[in-house]
Amino acid sequence: MVDLKQQYQKIKTEVDAAVLKVIESAGFINGPEVTQFADALAKYNGVQHVIPCANGTDALQIAMMALGLEPGDEVITPSFTYIATTEVIALLKLKPVFVDVDPKTFNIDPEAIQKAITPRTKAIVPVHLYGQAANMEEIINIASAKNLFVIEDNAQAIGSDYYFSNGTSKKTGSIGTIGCTSFFPSKNLGAYGDGGAITTNDSALATKLRMVANHGQSKRYYHDVIGCNSRLDTIQAAILRIKLNYLDQYIDARRSVADYYDAAFASHPKITTPYRSAFSKHVFHQYTLILEGINRVELQTYLAGHDIPSMIYYPVPAHKQKMFESFGSSETDLPATDFLTERVISLPVHTEMDEEQLNFITSKILEYIN
Ligand SMILES: *Cc1c(COP(=O)(O)O)cnc(C)c1O
Repeated sequence: MVDLKQQYQKIKTEVDAAVLKVIESAGFINGPEVTQFADALAKYNGVQHVIPCANGTDALQIAMMALGLEPGDEVITPSFTYIATTEVIALLKLKPVFVDVDPKTFNIDPEAIQKAITPRTKAIVPVHLYGQAANMEEIINIASAKNLFVIEDNAQAIGSDYYFSNGTSKKTGSIGTIGCTSFFPSKNLGAYGDGGAITTNDSALATKLRMVANHGQSKRYYHDVIGCNSRLDTIQAAILRIKLNYLDQYIDARRSVADYYDAAFASHPKITTPYRSAFSKHVFHQYTLILEGINRVELQTYLAGHDIPSMIYYPVPAHKQKMFESFGSSETDLPATDFLTERVISLPVHTEMDEEQLNFITSKILEYIN
C-alpha cells in the first residue's frame, strides 16, 4: 500500500547524516532534535504547543488524562475509525458513545453528535478519517454550546487544511481543544519507527500534557499526577524534522494519485470515488472507494493475483468489536457505518506511485468490474 523504501532513497543523504549525528552525540532520549522538531511542527501546524510522544494511541490517551476526565464520563466518538480512537476511552474507564458517520465523507455526523449528548458527556473525538477533515465548524459550535472538549484524532490527516465559512482556514489538529497525531511509518508524515504528537493552543493544558507524558512529573522526582512514560526518541525526531520539510510535497503526490483514480473511475455505476468536501483539503492518507454490487472478497483475490494490494479499513466497526462487549454497543444502530463497512475498499496511495502503476491498477479493476 506504500513504498517507503523508494521514498527513503530520495532523502537518504540527509536522513543518514541526521541519524548518524544523533548516534554520535548519544543523546538518544530528549536530544535537541526533539525540541527542534516540536518547534517546526508547531509552526507548520499553526499551534502554540507540540508535545511529542511515543505514538498516536498514547497521544489520545494522554490528551484524555490531561483533560481530567473521570470514570463514567461519556466521550462521543465515531465507530467507523481505527480501534485506537475508541480503545483509549475505555482503557481510562470512560464510556465510549459511538455515533454514526456521514456516508459521503466517512466522518462523524454532527447531527448524530447532537443527539448523543447527555449530562455526562465531556468530550467529542472527531477523526479526520482517510485524510479529510470532519465538519469542525459544526462540531466546535456544538461543543462550545455544551462546554465539551474536542480532541481531534489527526493521525490520518496531518497537513490537511480546514476552511471555515468566514473564509479563514486552519490546519487540522489546531482547531479543537487538543489535536493528536501519529508518525507510524505509513502515515503521511511517517517516522522510521513509532512516534506521535499532541498539539494545543492552551498553555496551561500544554503544561499538564507534558507532565502526564512524563510520569506526572512537575520537577525532577516530584510527581504531582498519575502519568505515563511516552517519549518520541531523538532518532525519530531527527528523521521527522527532515521529512516535515517534504510533507507538502508528499501531500501533493498523494493528491495527484487520487486525481488519477478519480478520473479513471468517474461515473462508473458500481464505484463511488471519494467525496471531497468544500471545507477540507483532502490529504489522501487512504484512497477509499465505495463499491456497489461487487463481491469485495473476490475483487481483492483477483487484485492480489495481479500483485495489486488493497485493504479494507476497517472490516469491523468499533462498536461491534468484542472488546466493547460489556458496553452492549453492538446493538447501537449505526446504518451509515454498517453500510460503509460492507462496501469500502482502499487502493494503494503513496508518494512514489507512477503513471504506469496507476494505469495498471485502474485498468485491472475496470477489467474485472466491467
Ligand atoms: C494510526 C492511527 C492511530 C494510532 O496511531 P499509532 O501511532 O499507531 O498508535 C489513531 N487513530 C487513527 C485514526 C489512526 O489512523
